[in-house]
Amino acid sequence: MNILVINCGSSSLKYQLINSETEDVLAKGLCERIGIDGILTYQPAGKDKEKSEKAMPTHTEAIKFVLEALTNEKTGVIKSLAEVGAVGHRIVHGGEKFTASTVLTAETIKAIEECSDLAPLHNPANLIGVRACQELMPNVPMVAVFDTAFHQTMPKTAYLYGLPYEYYENYKVRRYGFHGTSHSFVSKRTAEIIGKPYEDCKIIVCHLGNGASLSAVMNGKSVDTSMGLTPLEGLVMGTRSGDIDPAIIEFVAKKEGKTLDEMMTVLNKKSGLLGISCVSSDGRDLEDAAAKGDEKAQAALDIFAYRVVKYIGAYAAAMNGVDAIVFTAGIGENDISCRSKVCKNLTYLGAEIDEELNKCRGVERIISTPESKVKLLVVPTNEELAIARETLALVK
Ligand code: AMP
Repeated sequence: MNILVINCGSSSLKYQLINSETEDVLAKGLCERIGIDGILTYQPAGKDKEKSEKAMPTHTEAIKFVLEALTNEKTGVIKSLAEVGAVGHRIVHGGEKFTASTVLTAETIKAIEECSDLAPLHNPANLIGVRACQELMPNVPMVAVFDTAFHQTMPKTAYLYGLPYEYYENYKVRRYGFHGTSHSFVSKRTAEIIGKPYEDCKIIVCHLGNGASLSAVMNGKSVDTSMGLTPLEGLVMGTRSGDIDPAIIEFVAKKEGKTLDEMMTVLNKKSGLLGISCVSSDGRDLEDAAAKGDEKAQAALDIFAYRVVKYIGAYAAAMNGVDAIVFTAGIGENDISCRSKVCKNLTYLGAEIDEELNKCRGVERIISTPESKVKLLVVPTNEELAIARETLALVK
């Protein structure tokens, strides 16, 4: 069966068509500037990317262009829409309602809508994509795959904040965690690689991308993760601050005469690697700048790695041990010096990195020495494939 995977944002939409038997990507691409003008990028497997300007006043037109590209006589990869067996939608927030992926029905869509105040920028945009697909493919089954669902196994000790309990009761203020599809995919694969039953493993997943989070996965279940009510908590990220003393918000707001909204923009968009370095949010730019002697860029990279080290320590403690620590996403898969810096601080766990094996980018590999008590790995994430697998499992 061919599965169309859709990741829909407010003005953009990423897509992949995946053959679920072979797990090959038949075509992939992106619609950008939806509601403004519209750019379609389309890439059939093994061929060059095509970029074209298309009028996309709404997501419905954007998806129409995607479907046209997929079925195009010359460059398409399927003959007709009848060859799309299901659509898998990435949905950011499933709140406490969704502990697993779910088939989209009027009822489940309503429940997702009810989670929208927890992710006001993401869930409504995700649902626009769902509705546009339903309009164009009314008879094709659709599945919602949530960023939060994998972490719903966390115990109360991990997900409750030290706040008045009524905030949890009244507003569901708690840790949810994100990147769940990636944490689940990568931890399962890690168990396979190290040859231990998933249900009998203690794994720390370091998803280090522009957005970054760690998770503690014990016996196949997420027991803690660094992102919280929103993706702002935890690690230092590309532009997000991660953990800070909450009192800083009031302190700086008063000094600079900023509103709460303005402070949230600072924390989400102007902090993290970008804020510290004053150079860029991108790890590659920072490495270049640091190599030229830029001290703030070097500090940003060091602080990023230090925060990862601290969370690994916390999660090794939370699980009372760890079998494997795995790096994934843009920085985790590609930044050799970040992995090296982090792992050098893990010798207390008996973890020993092999610096030669660590010289790799974007490949699946064990990077620890044979003697290492904790396995260290790089496992590229593949959220689209994970969504396709979940979708298949529910529509089969
Ligand atoms: P992601 O959000 O998973 O797509 O990751 C994006 C981030 O990966 C970018 O912000 C880059 O900082 C980082 N990245 C990608 N390639 C490299 C590389 N070769 N070296 C260092 N960082 C990289």
